[in-house]
Amino acid sequence: MQKTLITGGAGYIGSHAAKALSQLGREVVVLDSLVAGHRDFLKWGEFENGDLADPAFLKSVFSKHDIGEVLHFAAFIAVGESVEKPELYYGNNVRNTLNLLDAMMAADVKRLVFSSTAAVYGEPVTDVIAEDHPLSPLSPYAWSKRMIEQILADFDHAYGLKHVCLRYFNAAGADLDGEIGERHQPETHLIPLILHAALGLRDNITIFGTDYPTPDGTCLRDYIHVTDLADAHVKALEYLIKGGDSRAFNLGNGNGFSVREIIDVAREVSGREIPVTESTRRPGDSPALVSSAAAARDILGWKPQFGDVRDIVRTAWNWHQKDLA
Ligand code: UDP
Repeated sequence: MQKTLITGGAGYIGSHAAKALSQLGREVVVLDSLVAGHRDFLKWGEFENGDLADPAFLKSVFSKHDIGEVLHFAAFIAVGESVEKPELYYGNNVRNTLNLLDAMMAADVKRLVFSSTAAVYGEPVTDVIAEDHPLSPLSPYAWSKRMIEQILADFDHAYGLKHVCLRYFNAAGADLDGEIGERHQPETHLIPLILHAALGLRDNITIFGTDYPTPDGTCLRDYIHVTDLADAHVKALEYLIKGGDSRAFNLGNGNGFSVREIIDVAREVSGREIPVTESTRRPGDSPALVSSAAAARDILGWKPQFGDVRDIVRTAWNWHQKDLA
């Protein structure tokens, strides 16, 4: 059986995908530098420890394993940092993806599922975002993902690289068995930071911007459970294996929740106070990102199972209590 290579498979979403694929009986090889990934998330498949910046390492991975397809998660992900240090994002995300593609083409591996982001849309011009919404990234992070999507399209044209770009809205929640979850260093994402405040590990949660053109003035986001994201990767892979054409799919629940609403849900789920402070807008943030995921539903047959934001926050709360104990 050919194996599935998962770059960034020791990270948050990649590890959930490694678990989902392994549970279906597929052979998995996790490639991770462990710069941002976690050794204790390496519970499924074989492990190759190295960096996409290293072409010789990549070549060795593709000659050692019979790889049928690649799930490409490995990337830097902090919007704010990307505004401060764009070179990190164009280097680690764009250039290193080119290294991966070079190794794939040399080994004749022509199927790839790419972790893209709803941030490629920038400021929305419609209430709900479908895949044909104009692309207008607001940060180097989002630009790096947009550029990679274009590179993949060009590689399809030139070399027949069949790929699916999965544009995640806001990944959140944790494995239902509590085996893995969200752990970033430093943490920048809303739900983990709120839960750190609930656990008393930080004094409060800062709301970035209360003057957005939204009902309560704070940003709206479409939170999607990480297990549902993992399932979408399985389905995207099946779609490519069946000969599906290259394209992008949105992954979200289609419901927007404000920062204040998420804090209220976290108060309810955790039973803790969670002090709040209000601050100015964070550079690079879009006021509202809410998906239409109709294409993923209709074409991939993907249906989120954990769409209730309380389930999302509850699984995250269970994980953080254990992980940070
Ligand atoms: N946010 C916030 N305080 C924080 C972290 C995030 O108010 O400490 C807001 C952020 O401005 C955005 C939303 O929460 O509107 C989600 O941010 P996150 O970084 O989790 O994900 P992103 O939407 O940037 O992918």
